[in-house]
Amino acid sequence: MKFSGKNVLITGASRSIGAEIARVLAAYGLKVWINYRSKPEIADALKAEIESNGHKAAVVGFDATDEEAFIEGLKLITQSDGELSYLVNNAGITNDKLALRMKTEDFMQVIDANLKSCFIGCREGLKLMSKQRFGSIVNIASIIGERGNAGQTNYAASKGGMIAMSKSFAYEGASRNVRFNCVTPGFIQTDMTDSLSDEIKENYKKTIPLARFGQAHEVAEAVAFLLSDSASYITGEVLKVNGGLYM
Ligand code: NAP
Repeated sequence: MKFSGKNVLITGASRSIGAEIARVLAAYGLKVWINYRSKPEIADALKAEIESNGHKAAVVGFDATDEEAFIEGLKLITQSDGELSYLVNNAGITNDKLALRMKTEDFMQVIDANLKSCFIGCREGLKLMSKQRFGSIVNIASIIGERGNAGQTNYAASKGGMIAMSKSFAYEGASRNVRFNCVTPGFIQTDMTDSLSDEIKENYKKTIPLARFGQAHEVAEAVAFLLSDSASYITGEVLKVNGGLYM
């Protein structure tokens, strides 16, 4: 895959899917900016691992829901590299409860972490990329944003919102050669899904046509494709990475 740009910021990249996206994009030749929120030592270890493989990486710490901190983080990147070529809005959380028991604060916490952070990233990314007349942004939404799920009204609303929002950004970015797309993972083996009980996991596996959970690198390769020049005529699209669970 060919990349005309030189660097990428991945939010929430110190572990799981975000870390794998960083590894894969670094291997494709991009300088990866690893964003972490709470564990600098894990982000530093990932940077060292990527560099030990002969690739380029840097670390930038901020909470993606904090507008000022996000903007400061982007400033650090553009001051260092002169541009932001690509952005992956990956940071996300869950806080599952049946809707009847879900407090408004539980709802808003997930909307802030997933949807608001993505909005800030897309808006600020578009500002920078508009000036350079080049850029590509991939937002990590979810199968749950496409089909809903019991116990996840907050998460579904945030991820469905990310999909609709990305399409709106795609309209606004198109004339400036800035593309916006989403990847919607199904069940991917990470810390987020490890917390589910074995019984729930086995039941889910039975419903997946490919009969297994996905791996983080399978999400990362889809992200790489959408960011790359190979997807130069693709914007406002949603790429499912779900083993056929939702077609
Ligand atoms: P994970 O293992 O829970 O990791 C989430 C990452 O996001 C962590 O590094 C976390 O940092 C970071 N993060 C959370 N809130 C943040 C914030 N406000 N600012 C900066 N970083 C923040 O989750 P994952 O499974 O890798 O999921 C990554 C993305 O894929 C999420 O958007 C998730 O919704 C989506 N997704 C996952 C699956 C799946 O099956 N795993 C399926 C569909 C979609 P800390 O270490 O500081 O907490």
